[in-house]
Amino acid sequence: MTDDASHEVLDRFLAVRDAVARFARDAGRKPEDVTLVAVSKTYGPEAIVPVLESGHRVFGENRVQESQGKWPALKAQFPGVELHLIGPLQSNKAKEAIALFDVIETVDRVSIAEALAKELAKTDRRPQLYVQINTGEEPQKAGVVPREADAFLARCRDEWGLSISGLMCIPPVDEPPSPHFALLRKIAERNGLKTLSMGMSGDFEAAIQLGATHVRIGSAIFGARH
Ligand SMILES: *Cc1c(COP(=O)(O)O)cnc(C)c1O
Repeated sequence: MTDDASHEVLDRFLAVRDAVARFARDAGRKPEDVTLVAVSKTYGPEAIVPVLESGHRVFGENRVQESQGKWPALKAQFPGVELHLIGPLQSNKAKEAIALFDVIETVDRVSIAEALAKELAKTDRRPQLYVQINTGEEPQKAGVVPREADAFLARCRDEWGLSISGLMCIPPVDEPPSPHFALLRKIAERNGLKTLSMGMSGDFEAAIQLGATHVRIGSAIFGARH
């Protein structure tokens, strides 16, 4: 990446950071109550380092293996990184995910809850866990469907001893996102959960209006993905 290109990433990051704060204020919320998760999937250290150097520490990745290739060195170089797993987790990668990620946003089915519980019993690491809700009930998309959310959250707590701190969703691409954000918030409220990961490059203003505590923003910062 050239100097110009890394300046562009930094400029876009700063603009997105300002927009997140502005949308929070516009919605009558405190900017510090909305965390920007910079989604760096497919990008290498040369794109990520300028954002780290600006002081930002919260990043998202969607693949365990890709993250293992780039984040251990970056975490060592920049203390205080909070790394979020935002893509589907395979049971056989639960151990690696717990070792590297500080937040796992994609607890989305029984087998993953079981695998996480089993691996957590063997380590002192305690990543925060969010349950992914498939608000659009799309067959191809991961996540617990809304009508099963309450029962799944109860099982996480009672059966697997998992402490779930929030919910995450990815609305269908071809629908207005706001009803999905509102639904996620409703499920969180009735389950006593305060953390809502919702909103991406194209819809984070609406998500912030509807209570997002975490917005996951990739292309608006790093550019179109390779
Ligand atoms: C890639 C990705 C994002 C970021 O999407 P952009 O539209 O590039 O901001 C957010 N959430 C998830 C789950 C993703 O996979």
